[in-house]
Amino acid sequence: MKLISLLKGEKPSLSFEVFPPKTDASFDSVEQAVHRIAALKPAFMSVTYGAGGGTSQYTLDISKTIKRDHGVPSLAHLTCVSSTRESVRQRIAAMQEAGIENVMALRGDIPADRINEDRTNWDFRYAVDLIRELKESGAGFCIGGACYPEIHPESANQKEDIRRLKEKVEAGCEFLTTQMFFDNNLLYNFLYKIREAGITVPVVAGIMPITNAKQVERAMKLSGSFMPQRFKSLVDRFGADPASMKQAGIAYATDQIIDLFANNVTNVHVYSMNNPDVAEKIQANLSDILGK
Ligand code: FAD
Repeated sequence: MKLISLLKGEKPSLSFEVFPPKTDASFDSVEQAVHRIAALKPAFMSVTYGAGGGTSQYTLDISKTIKRDHGVPSLAHLTCVSSTRESVRQRIAAMQEAGIENVMALRGDIPADRINEDRTNWDFRYAVDLIRELKESGAGFCIGGACYPEIHPESANQKEDIRRLKEKVEAGCEFLTTQMFFDNNLLYNFLYKIREAGITVPVVAGIMPITNAKQVERAMKLSGSFMPQRFKSLVDRFGADPASMKQAGIAYATDQIIDLFANNVTNVHVYSMNNPDVAEKIQANLSDILGK
């Protein structure tokens, strides 16, 4: 099923993200986590693409399994930066052969050892180049893209970031998923600005439940997200006790999601990080709201 038909609905919907194993040895444990999350029958599940593409086959295999074994729509991520046109075309053909219908088109982070290279002649410099390639393939994918309520770290300012975002939508991106954020007002402001700029596609709000203190540092480094005082207090108070931190982090994420639904942000994507326990608890907290 193409995600765009789901994302235009008015009922609150929850989806989850998983990431592929890094090695063959961890495939089974990832697969078990995926099965448990898929058993919750979320609106869809996304499968990330490992930086550098070394685990691209797993992204494909897991996306296929989610759809085939659980009847849950899947969204396969694909990155392009520093890839050749030929290798991206091969991946697109493999996705088509595997029956993938939904693709999250991303640039990816620039590898640390190539950061100072002249990128003028790279086949893919930005996500928009990949979106164009996906459209030109004629495979008919429903294409999603990333967006950043607190602006992308490489952007000079929000106006420029939104201008580039609009180019992705004009190139064929049918929906957007946000980077994680911990203060819903940042999202509401962002939505106001992008709608004003003429971006009308559905926006899926990305929520990261922080369930251990170590994750806080990692999330900050990855996303540069603003930490509201309410959230900082929670980490200060419960961070040293894993069980309490997990409970508090799930409660904080649940609270964020309820506020989003109450404000008519109907599609929420949970960065569940292969953690079925967290996905199950969040869904249970929202059972009546979701009608599940
Ligand atoms: P782009 O849209 O290309 O934007 C990158 C920067 O370039 C921005 O500052 C933008 O304003 C600017 N820009 C865009 N177009 C132009 C242009 N034509 N000229 C000049 N500047 C331009 N990473 C992974 O490796 N695997 C994943 O599975 C993955 N999933 C993600 C899912 C989501 C929802 C999000 C938010 C991020 C994900 N990432 C993933 C991380 C992502 O790859 C990085 O954030 C990356 O740095 C930017 O990717 P992008 O697709 O947003 O890039």
